[in-house]
Amino acid sequence: MTLSDKIKDVIRDIPDFPKPGIVFKDITPILSNSKLVTEVVDWFVEKGKQDNIDVVVGVESRGFLFGLLIAEKMGVPFVPVRKQGKLPYKTIAHSYDLEYGSATVEIHEDALKPGQKVMIHDDLLATGGTAMAAAELVKQIGGKVCNYTFLIELGFLNGKENIGLDNNEAIHSII
Ligand code: 5GP
Repeated sequence: MTLSDKIKDVIRDIPDFPKPGIVFKDITPILSNSKLVTEVVDWFVEKGKQDNIDVVVGVESRGFLFGLLIAEKMGVPFVPVRKQGKLPYKTIAHSYDLEYGSATVEIHEDALKPGQKVMIHDDLLATGGTAMAAAELVKQIGGKVCNYTFLIELGFLNGKENIGLDNNEAIHSII
């Protein structure tokens, strides 16, 4: 069985969460299976090595689950991107449009060294808005986005096209 099949086997579709009409992919069952967690982390570590990254940036909150594990296994720093008002030190902020309204994410202004090669990691790629906002923060504090990694990519929402790979950054999704 491929890793993709193993993940498809355990994740759950939750209808009408968090709002009516949305079918939410629940990835939490993966976390109950430590062998599967190891396989998932190893898959991402391979992509990190392949693209020569030297920092993992994880997006709140499910991007933290595997993001820190990937960074730890690679022996590189982990940097959190969080929603507005959650990070304690001095921050840089970026706002982006949602279907209804907007959202703001932040990063610590000293979280990266100039030129560091970054993996942006999250659990799921939908429209790409969140990943692009994280990439914008990385660029603003001097980092270089080398790849984006996700467990799941919802192809019909065109996240890949929206992100628009201007500098040959790679996008790697298990499913
Ligand atoms: P985007 O910004 O690409 O439209 O949405 C991706 C963000 O929304 C990610 O941070 C992801 O965690 C969250 N998200 C949206 N839909 C789902 C879903 O069905 N399942 C999970 N686990 N996360 C989702």
